[in-house]
Amino acid sequence: MMQLECICGNKAVFFTAGDRDDAGREYLELEDDDVLTVTIGEDSVVFQCKFCGHRYRLQQ
Ligand SMILES: [Zn+2]
Repeated sequence: MMQLECICGNKAVFFTAGDRDDAGREYLELEDDDVLTVTIGEDSVVFQCKFCGHRYRLQQ
């Protein structure tokens, strides 16, 4: 399980569903997609809090 906590206290929880891709990597799923928007770009992933609108960028 993986958790992201926003500055506003909103928490997004990711869990593994048990499915794996061809390389054996497990898929991460967002427990509740009402709390966070995930946008996958070319070189980064952006998480946006649905409560306060704060955005986090995870660069590859
Ligand atoms: Zn927030």
